[in-house]
Amino acid sequence: MPTDIEIARAATLQPIADIAAKAGIPAAALEPYGKFIAKVDTHEIPDFAARPDGKLILVTAINPTPAGEGKTTTTVGLGDGLSRIGKRCMIALREPSLGPCFGVKGGAAGGGYAQIVPMEQINLHFTGDFHAITSAHNLLAALIDNHVYWGNELGIDTRHIAWRRVMDMNDRALRSTVSSLGGASNGFPREDGFDITVASEVMAIFCLATDLDDLEARLGKVVVGRTRDKRPVTAADLKATGAMSVLLKDALMPNLVQTLEGTPAFVHGGPFANIAHGCNSVIATRTALKLADYVVTEAGFGADLGAEKFFDIKCRKAGLKPAAAVIVATVRALKMHGGASKEVLGQEDLATLEAGLANLARHVGNIRKFGVPPIVAINHFTSDTPAEHALIANFCRNHLGVEAVICRHWADGGAGTEELAQRVVALAEGGEADFAPLYPDAMPLWDKLETVAREIYGADGISGDAKVRARFTELEAAGYGHLPVCVAKTQYSFSADPTLRGAPTGHIVPVREVRLSAGAGFVVAICGDIMTMPGLPRVPAAERIHIDEQGRIEGLF
Ligand code: ADP
Ligand code: MG
Repeated sequence: MPTDIEIARAATLQPIADIAAKAGIPAAALEPYGKFIAKVDTHEIPDFAARPDGKLILVTAINPTPAGEGKTTTTVGLGDGLSRIGKRCMIALREPSLGPCFGVKGGAAGGGYAQIVPMEQINLHFTGDFHAITSAHNLLAALIDNHVYWGNELGIDTRHIAWRRVMDMNDRALRSTVSSLGGASNGFPREDGFDITVASEVMAIFCLATDLDDLEARLGKVVVGRTRDKRPVTAADLKATGAMSVLLKDALMPNLVQTLEGTPAFVHGGPFANIAHGCNSVIATRTALKLADYVVTEAGFGADLGAEKFFDIKCRKAGLKPAAAVIVATVRALKMHGGASKEVLGQEDLATLEAGLANLARHVGNIRKFGVPPIVAINHFTSDTPAEHALIANFCRNHLGVEAVICRHWADGGAGTEELAQRVVALAEGGEADFAPLYPDAMPLWDKLETVAREIYGADGISGDAKVRARFTELEAAGYGHLPVCVAKTQYSFSADPTLRGAPTGHIVPVREVRLSAGAGFVVAICGDIMTMPGLPRVPAAERIHIDEQGRIEGLF
């Protein structure tokens, strides 16, 4: 099997105008970025707002393990499978962050024969959206320190500035810094630090905004700190929102690319799935729904975090009604949930696999709690055996009442997901879906978290010290009680302990810290060690990335 970049490079791409035409996007709506990428101006699409919406299909997964699951590849593969069976389909994905490309995880454009292309550009600078978001974020940071420098009319308490700086790179050296060193003309020294751009609240706002006006209104609500008498100071107070919106204006148009098989795909926005909600922009999803009969989209991490936030934050806020959810599982990862170590995953082991199915079973039940019909996609790996596949399929049918379909998109492209595509269509057209978020807006924040912990994580409850409880009370009093909660916890377990695989019960989810993302419109509950500025591994991927004699990029994956 050739590498991802070899496969991507060998593909013959169609001009982006042809892909747009396939999606019903007129040439007048395209702002091309080279030959194979374009931004789409929805104002130029005739009768846009009046069009009916297509069916929204979420791709999510069991809890990730080092063995890998393949949500992005399955999203792409299902899109191509739907195209192959003659459906008008679009894909909506997140934009990759630069940090992981040079670190350990690599890019995020799919893999094997299920990729979006041109993968080099998508994984690297793409259309500059992350640059725009970084700039808008840092403009606000500069305005804060500048305001303090020129006399601090708003009375910002510089000990409590809640707006760090951002950069789209994995760089642990920047996690904690001191800014304004070097003398009086550089301002007032204070503790500061950087987050990676995907952790910026501007990124989350960008992805939840419905249009430019909504974007500007949300930016204005961002709380950057407080005064000495504890009144919140917002981006609107600093008169920052006009200029921030200007920086984001072009970026807000969704980016159109294609899969290896020519299925149109929007790749737009990319918030973290821990301290943010982890899915592509509402604008891209909504646009795709206006253009296609089926829209396949991915939510980050496992379904306990990704799908829950997709439903409770994105769908709730944007009024989206998903028609079905595909839960990606692999034999290898299920064996790890059953207790196997990474070294023995290549050997058939039905008993361990069976034990690991508890993880899948809970996710299936969870998805149903939102009124969304689930289907399981078994992402085929070469080490899988027929007996292992049969075990999963039988368990799913007999014990969970759900279909489990073997998918070979990684090796075979859309031809490997035709059966999944057929079954997803049947499920989506079956009229079974009756989406509702897990909890109502009116529920107190603490109870919302407790509901997620009990219903989704299988926990007995949540815990928090006096400080955490006081913060909830403070947020309710300040009028933020109606917001949904965004849990930041490990993606590896239903619990807050990354080593607890399978489907743990009886655990308590400890809430360590509570943060407000008033512009994005959620309250973040931090339950564990959450890294908002990742580091690079001992041997970073960057060491192998280079340009070859023919001027081609090598080493990207
Ligand atoms: P996720 O979106 O869940 O993080 P991806 O779809 O990006 O996962 O896949 C993660 C990695 O695993 C990619 O490098 C991809 O090429 C690889 N991968 C996915 N499916 C398969 C498969 N069936 N066989 C081998 N490698 C795969
Ligand atoms: Mg992914």
